[in-house]
Amino acid sequence: MKALVWHGKEDVRIDTVADPKLVDPTDVIVKITATAICGSDLHLYDGFMPGMQSGDILGHEPMGVVVEVGREVTKLKKGDRVVVPFVIACGDCFFCRKKLFAACDRSNPNAKLAEKAMGHSPCGALGYSHLLGGFAGGQAEYLRVPYADVGPLVIESTLTDEQVLFLSDILPTGYMAAENAQIEPGDTVAVWGAGPVGQFSIQCAWMLGAGRVIAIDRVPERLTLAERVGRAEVIDFSKEHVYERLQEMTDGRGPDRCIDAVGCEAHSFGSIDAILDNAKKMMKLGTDRAHVLREVLYCCRKGGTVSIPGVYVGFLDKIPFGAAMNKGLTLKMGQTHAQKYMRPLLEKIEAGQIHPTPIITHRLKLDEGPDAYRTFRDKKEGCIKVVLIP
Ligand code: NAD
Ligand code: ZN
Repeated sequence: MKALVWHGKEDVRIDTVADPKLVDPTDVIVKITATAICGSDLHLYDGFMPGMQSGDILGHEPMGVVVEVGREVTKLKKGDRVVVPFVIACGDCFFCRKKLFAACDRSNPNAKLAEKAMGHSPCGALGYSHLLGGFAGGQAEYLRVPYADVGPLVIESTLTDEQVLFLSDILPTGYMAAENAQIEPGDTVAVWGAGPVGQFSIQCAWMLGAGRVIAIDRVPERLTLAERVGRAEVIDFSKEHVYERLQEMTDGRGPDRCIDAVGCEAHSFGSIDAILDNAKKMMKLGTDRAHVLREVLYCCRKGGTVSIPGVYVGFLDKIPFGAAMNKGLTLKMGQTHAQKYMRPLLEKIEAGQIHPTPIITHRLKLDEGPDAYRTFRDKKEGCIKVVLIP
């Protein structure tokens, strides 16, 4: 089959690789009909995520049709149309029983190794490095889905692929970000990053009672979409001073709830040398995006909540923790427990309360994936979200 394969930093190719096979009796094989590129894939593309190996198949936002079913799978059958979550979860460990699927203790065979490298033991995930299990991803013609009774959501309605695809990751992520922000009716919610995750955070913030939403970014098309579809007020951080502007807009208090939908590429691991090495690399690339977290902690009002869906890995430097402590901020964050949110959010899409498709700017063939990665990373051609069709 054809698949998008990681060969190193900024080196994604379309390769012919072996078709996936059932490995465990709880697996299914899905023939992919649509698959997206995520901001999280950019951490791999930019070479910041450790544990990638040349030859790894990328992608964790796929959907398609079940074509093979392991003998212990009870909830899926051949021909089912499914959206597959990025999180792989066993459904039965201490964490899964609490619906903390992204903390699953069993789905990552390399969890102990990851703990040594990064200080925590992540769950398994599709297409996201050997530290998260080394599972092949879904930017391919076919995908092996482990623990198939726990993840994939069967779509029985006539909704199109584009309407349901983002249930795999970024829609649940935007929703959990808004939920974690603990929004009270009428609150002012500021969202850093008007990428796909930010756009869904904005829509979900309104749904959870925000009285006002402010989006912060510098990419004109993204700010425009936040205004047009997200009904947000916007701040262009390349032109305005974010802290001062937010103070002005909130009677000198700061926003009640702040969402960091940017994250950080400052991946520093293990030893001081590695941290310094990464710091140098970051400075060269000008991508010390921990800057956003610092800004968010400064801007949030006293007693407010900071929600962090943006991904941070490793160690961060000079975080104003004193401000966070003395302002009495609540911090909530984490990888999304996608399985928990998929079905309720499908109902919101069916009810017309969430509009997933306006973020799609690029519909391309899987073969065009290598160029699509660059376009999406560089925010060229007004690119907000890429959907690839095998
Ligand atoms: P993206 O790269 O498309 O969007 C990020 C946006 O942040 C861009 O529009 C960029 O211009 C903007 N930005 C950069 N610096 C900024 C600054 N200083 N202030 C304000 N905005 C700034 O990525 P995305 O797909 O929207 O994902 C966003 C983050 O969410 C990534 O870190 C991704 O890894 C993470 N993510 C987390 C989960 C989870 O489970 N928690 C799931 C999916 C994605
Ligand atoms: Zn993703």
